[in-house]
Amino acid sequence: MTQKRRLGIMGGTFDPIHHGHLVAASEVAHVFSLDEVVFVPTGISSHKETQRITPAEDRYLMAVIATASNPRFSVSRIDIERPGATYTVDTLRDMRKLHTDADLFFITGADALAKMLDWQDTAELFELAHFIGVTRPGHRLADPGLPDGRVSLMEVPALSISSTECRDRVRAGEPIWYLVPDGIVQYIGKRGLYRD
Ligand code: ATP
Ligand code: MG
Repeated sequence: MTQKRRLGIMGGTFDPIHHGHLVAASEVAHVFSLDEVVFVPTGISSHKETQRITPAEDRYLMAVIATASNPRFSVSRIDIERPGATYTVDTLRDMRKLHTDADLFFITGADALAKMLDWQDTAELFELAHFIGVTRPGHRLADPGLPDGRVSLMEVPALSISSTECRDRVRAGEPIWYLVPDGIVQYIGKRGLYRD
């Protein structure tokens, strides 16, 4: 009997991608024996429409740069190529169509998971994928009656890095070395991102 492929999906704005994202993906891949983790940068995020976000192409390229050296990590353009705001259910429907043979695991920070379960059609979401909520310092997941077997919560090495902090640091002229991969520091500098 052949095992089904186990495919992790990590959605995010990735503005910019940082070591918190990468450690979380790596740790979940290890614990859940995933064959691959696909990073999926959002188009216009449904939560962040009002904020100014960096062009999708820059966020996509940073995700490619950050994941290039890991043979189990890849990056998908499905969300940035779909017009309009990004909803997780669309991401999962598209991934389902592309990977008919795989079991899908949606990886998300506890903060994002709590928001998602608040206002999206969870029944369909849970049919499409197994959800893995990773805890992140400062965000406790208030248990809103999580359905059994559909959501796993997992602690990842405590990384309090956020993209917001990275952007603020660049704007203030502070270093972001070691918060993000070296190539991301260089890409941000080269493109002059986050300097207003
Ligand atoms: P921002 O500060 O702009 O909201 P962010 O750091 O939260 O950015 P996102 O692109 O919003 O990054 O997050 C993508 C996913 O990664 C979300 O599910 C989020 O909860 C999770 N995540 C973000 N930072 C961490 C971290 N340090 N550890 C674990 N998960 C994280
Ligand atoms: Mg966030």
